[in-house]
Amino acid sequence: MRIILLGPPGSGKGTQGDMLSRRYQFPKVSTGDILRRAVQDRTPLGLRAETMMNRGRLVSDEIVVELVSERLSADDCRRGCILDGFPRNIGQAQSLDKLEPGRPERAVEIQVGAEILAERLGSRLVCGGCQAVYNLKVQPPRREGTCDACGRTLVRRPDDRPEVIVERLNVYKKEMEPLRDYYRKKNVYQAVDGRGSVEDVYLRLSSYLDAALAEAEGLKEGAGR
Ligand code: AMP
Repeated sequence: MRIILLGPPGSGKGTQGDMLSRRYQFPKVSTGDILRRAVQDRTPLGLRAETMMNRGRLVSDEIVVELVSERLSADDCRRGCILDGFPRNIGQAQSLDKLEPGRPERAVEIQVGAEILAERLGSRLVCGGCQAVYNLKVQPPRREGTCDACGRTLVRRPDDRPEVIVERLNVYKKEMEPLRDYYRKKNVYQAVDGRGSVEDVYLRLSSYLDAALAEAEGLKEGAGR
């Protein structure tokens, strides 16, 4: 199953995507992570994407669709995957449908109010090496300023500056409404309350997805009979 995780910046898509990836053994495909890695490595693609990312704007559909297309064709995505940060608009959603037509999918939106998002993004730090994410208030590293996993220095994402956060939230609001409708019409959209602890949200998401996966398995078995 292809699971699409939707949600504004700071809604916890990345963290929840990692946890769901472990639960269902589907790889997480995060366009933000792939792009940040390309920027860090100074690849031609990273250099093209960097300015837009630092302004909180979307990178061109052409770039991200190509990235996702390449990633989804890998063997480990055959059973399914968890898409984090893609699609971000209708054009990308249509491109995704063309990549894998007829694949069952669920689009789950983690919903969180603007006030909580601003607070979460303001206290977020990421590892400059392995990109692990920390929150100074609720998930601080064991040693200040240092990644628990790889020991590298923690930094603030350039797009987590207050003025860029405002732009990213505006972009999200504008693009999400048509995307919600797109997946509602396909009967695969589900909103999930993103307030509370990481575990609270994980429980909500996983109980919904457990049922969705069981249903998809049932349909597959029925069709095979
Ligand atoms: P994220 O980590 O998902 O918040 O993404 C960080 C930044 O990467 C975004 O603000 C965009 O500039 C860029 N980005 C990530 N995913 C996409 C996408 N699907 N389409 C366009 N730009 C994207």
